[in-house]
Amino acid sequence: MIEYEYNDIYKLFDELLLIINENHPDIDLEPIKHAFEIAEEAHRPQKRLSGEPYIIHPIKVAIILAKHSLDASSIIAALLHDVVEDTVTGLESISDSFGAEIAHLVDGVTKISSLKNRTKSHEQAQTLRKMLLATIDDPRVIIIKLADKTHNMRTLEFQPPHKQNRIAQEVMDIYAPLAGRLGMSKISSELEDLAFYILHREAYTDITEKLTKQEEELDEYLNSIHAILKSNIDKMNIRASISGRIKHLYSIYKKMVHQQKPFEEIFDVRAIRIITEEVKDCYAILGIVHTIWPPVPSRFKDYIAVPKSNMYQSLHTTVTGPGKHFLEIQIRTEEMDVTAEMGIAAHWMYKESGKKDKSQMTDLSLLQNINKWRSELNDTREFMKVLKMDLYSDEIFVFTPQGKIIRLAKGSTPIDFAYAIHSEVGHHCSGAKINHKIKPLRTKLENGDIVEIITNPAKHPSDNWLKIVRSSNARYKIRSWIKKQQPTDSDEIHKKNRPAQKSEPDKMASFTINTEELSKITSSKNTGKSDIIVDNTMNVPIRLALCCHPIPGDPVIGFISKDKRISVHKKGCPSLKRLNIEPERFISIAWSDSNHMHPVKIAIEAIDRPNLLADITTELSQSKINILKLEANESKSGFAVIRLVVEVKSIDHLQFIIERMKSVKDVIEVYKLKEKVIKRK
Ligand code: MN
Repeated sequence: MIEYEYNDIYKLFDELLLIINENHPDIDLEPIKHAFEIAEEAHRPQKRLSGEPYIIHPIKVAIILAKHSLDASSIIAALLHDVVEDTVTGLESISDSFGAEIAHLVDGVTKISSLKNRTKSHEQAQTLRKMLLATIDDPRVIIIKLADKTHNMRTLEFQPPHKQNRIAQEVMDIYAPLAGRLGMSKISSELEDLAFYILHREAYTDITEKLTKQEEELDEYLNSIHAILKSNIDKMNIRASISGRIKHLYSIYKKMVHQQKPFEEIFDVRAIRIITEEVKDCYAILGIVHTIWPPVPSRFKDYIAVPKSNMYQSLHTTVTGPGKHFLEIQIRTEEMDVTAEMGIAAHWMYKESGKKDKSQMTDLSLLQNINKWRSELNDTREFMKVLKMDLYSDEIFVFTPQGKIIRLAKGSTPIDFAYAIHSEVGHHCSGAKINHKIKPLRTKLENGDIVEIITNPAKHPSDNWLKIVRSSNARYKIRSWIKKQQPTDSDEIHKKNRPAQKSEPDKMASFTINTEELSKITSSKNTGKSDIIVDNTMNVPIRLALCCHPIPGDPVIGFISKDKRISVHKKGCPSLKRLNIEPERFISIAWSDSNHMHPVKIAIEAIDRPNLLADITTELSQSKINILKLEANESKSGFAVIRLVVEVKSIDHLQFIIERMKSVKDVIEVYKLKEKVIKRK
């Protein structure tokens, strides 16, 4: 029996070595073998619920990472990731054997594991997700943890049913969105589908069965699309690989729920991906696609020009394909495709030195490689820094003794914490234990502290507290309490101070303003004169090109289309070059310098929180920016997407607006939407 198990283990470990060796023959396997020996010995007495020896799990986690081409340190840390938590082997001995970097990775993974079971409600999950990122300074920790989760989810059947549900829910709430946030779409899709199977078994089986029934038809459809695209792209002498796929199950399910339609009515289960060599080819292919099938208005997204914050780049368009089926098409370069699937992990993929001309590798190229590697590392650090600043610049997360997470402003003290729990706890707060030790009330709390408040009914707020507290909530409550004690003296002070407090409900209400007024503005703007001066020809219908979306300030060029309109493109718009237009149809045009305002639609992606809309609208009004329209919806994952139409004078003005919006707390990303809002005849 035991003999058999050991054979099994070694076979699996050999498989890992094989994958590493196939992808990257120049990785040194010795430290990996050493890590395996240590982990195997440490876990030897343990078994998984499946009855397998425990070491199978870390090897499989390492295999997931090796298949993703991650570097040797990640693979070693994966082999050791449960050693500290589950066995007597300490972090120090790992540090002695493998160095500080690997010890740091193992420590990070262990820390995340110790956070489990603290996610009770949805809000908690959201907060935990932020905290995960805030307390981790090397993203490989998260990548290893995600691989760990993936393997645990694949073997979830061995857990008792109630545990399956809890784990799947946690994956759906935290780990899958986290993977998505970091751009690791491959892992996030797999996690979603695995959790979907546990949480909504019926829907899962239903969709699978229906897809299987239609398999042949879907295959045929995608094949015909493939053929049409291939012949058209070949004609233009562009090299591209085209693949068709069915979207992953959970994304189909989300569409059904979101659109409230049965499976039969969801048509965009099909998606096409076109991978090409250069950015200009992407736009050229986009032009080709749009000449074959009409694009669905407002579904075109240019993530090449404006990458997502997780670095994702691609063109997206939805067209009405054959049989009037909606068809989503993604177009991107090979490099973008790696980032799209691997996200942040792409930065830690093992890189072969001088892959193209190994024979000619000189000191110089080695130096260049090192420099490149270094600058990439810097970029990633920079990226994490920005990510963190966006998300948590001025917040910390601490725990109650029961494990509930409390979010506070950075620099908060136990008094802020007490008021965040309840006003009465605040008013009678007499002392605090931080991480089980009594500490002064003025102590600044840190991320992850466990805080316990000692109350005494005889204790009351004092003026001194106002110097200690950080949050406006606590400050306000302390002032109110003091005011109640001395109603006459301090009235004047409060009048001065009150307006500085954010009165949340009022501001929330203020954004619903002027929808009527603004419809007047928009209509008057749109019936007004054109903002474009055209040589010699006035009164020609003008439209702004959908491919490059010029706005006033952009250098532009026009061409007369077959239907006798002038189509305005940005100068150098790549789709223009590809259209093979006769030179005489080009016409030089310029923006008039009238002070016309243009309605421009922008999107703001943010972590949803109370007062978010109020803060955004306040920022806009303080910057004298007019909002014409505003729509906000909170996505299920706790992120809010706010779309607004603002009045924009010029490109510089738009940049200014975007910068202002980015300065609002919790805002992650702001960009101009590519939808056409500038209506012109
Ligand atoms: Mn594990």
